[in-house]
Amino acid sequence: MSIPHKKPTLIVGGGISGITTAVEIAEVGKEVILIEQKPYLGGNVIKMNNYFPKLCPPACGLEINFRRIRQNPRIKYYTSTTLLEISGEKNNFSVKLRSAPQYVKDNCTACGKCVEVCPEERPDEFNYNFSKTKAIYFPHEMAFPAKFSIDDRYCKKESCNKCVEVCEYNAIDLSAKEEVFFLEVGSVVFATGWKNYDAGLIENLHYSDFKNVVTNVEFERLIASNGPGKDKLIRPSDNTEPEEIVFVQCAGSRDENYLPYCSAVCCPASLKHALSIQEKYPDSKIKIFYIDLRVSGRNEDFLAKVEENKNIELIKGKVAKIEEVGETKNLIVEAEDVLSGKKIKHEADLVVLATGIVPSDATLNLNKDQNGFLTEIQKEGIHAVSCCKKPMDVSSSVKDATAAALKAIQLTG
Ligand SMILES: Cc1cc2nc3c(=O)[nH]c(=O)nc-3n(C[C@H](O)[C@H](O)[C@H](O)COP(=O)(O)OP(=O)(O)OC[C@H]3O[C@@H](n4cnc5c(N)ncnc54)[C@H](O)[C@@H]3O)c2cc1C
Repeated sequence: MSIPHKKPTLIVGGGISGITTAVEIAEVGKEVILIEQKPYLGGNVIKMNNYFPKLCPPACGLEINFRRIRQNPRIKYYTSTTLLEISGEKNNFSVKLRSAPQYVKDNCTACGKCVEVCPEERPDEFNYNFSKTKAIYFPHEMAFPAKFSIDDRYCKKESCNKCVEVCEYNAIDLSAKEEVFFLEVGSVVFATGWKNYDAGLIENLHYSDFKNVVTNVEFERLIASNGPGKDKLIRPSDNTEPEEIVFVQCAGSRDENYLPYCSAVCCPASLKHALSIQEKYPDSKIKIFYIDLRVSGRNEDFLAKVEENKNIELIKGKVAKIEEVGETKNLIVEAEDVLSGKKIKHEADLVVLATGIVPSDATLNLNKDQNGFLTEIQKEGIHAVSCCKKPMDVSSSVKDATAAALKAIQLTG
């Protein structure tokens, strides 16, 4: 007779996919452990200005999921935590986890007095280093869990101690150490997601050399009303508002020298970006250079809106070269318009590279395909889900994550 299994499912990665898998499993009465390497849940989606197809802010989809987590005692989550080892078989895995020091305890009320007295600054990772926070910081306005973090690369710890002295809740412990611990789990779901392709590798586009060449993910923060420019879209070199903006599609993608595949989300993302700029700055002028525009389903509405907009020009042609103009730090973009056969040299204030998606760095030696994405079935009881498996948008990720939840529920009895 088989004994019904009660061990929890471990989910690695607290983006929209990991969160979805967690809540779906927990809401049928099963135990779940969700780990996330950052101090907050929400993955890449939480950093977005808005998301297609509805163009709602990330709060739309995530806030309701954070509430589901808060209300469900079957979900245990650990932030600033990674997976070091897995051993065993389905229904009987032992996992070794490491949590970074939790200097700020759960009784933090996020009152913010610590920030006022903190003398040290750090580049704000949430805004891709376009802005700064104090060494003790609230990760972003929607952060879940809603508590402060300390960046120990910048904090002077006990030799400063100002945050400890001002905290009336005794919620800061600067002597906290990392913790390594083991758990028994029945199955494991990898939802480790993606990171942006390293645009610095694409030599002719000069991402590393020219400040006003940014990537699409950086642009999500630059255009966001809670981004580095607050309500303004600012360009990095001088914090001025750009008027002429160029998007370079397939930056490194579908190119065997860099990323041989299409990441599927970059075309709708740039169309969404162009429309967001026009909404904020109706007089701005935008050019989108593309090889093929790949949009489907509800995202075709964007394409129709972009095509109607006189200030947005779609040009079929690959960008060959970007040069910087001395003092202004403007950019000269060179391409061939393949439909007219004309060579184009266009001066822009800001260039956005639509760089593709690559899988996040896996902490373990997992099975991967030729492009480094995790294969779906690692072994019985260990699955990969959504964007760590292949590029996909949020709605496909959520469907995939729900399917992974079903598999985990079936496995753990
Ligand atoms: C420029 C751009 C714009 C986009 N815009 C849209 C849009 O408007 N609409 C849309 O539908 N889709 C959009 N997408 C796609 C969308 O971002 C993805 O569908 C979504 O992020 C997938 O979520 P995920 O949870 O699978 O991965 P992620 O969002 O990447 O989350 C993965 C999480 O796992 C964590 N993690 C990674 N490794 C580990 C580890 N070893 N241990 C613990 N935690 C780990 C990460 O820190 C992260 O929090 C866009 C993509 C790009 C590039």
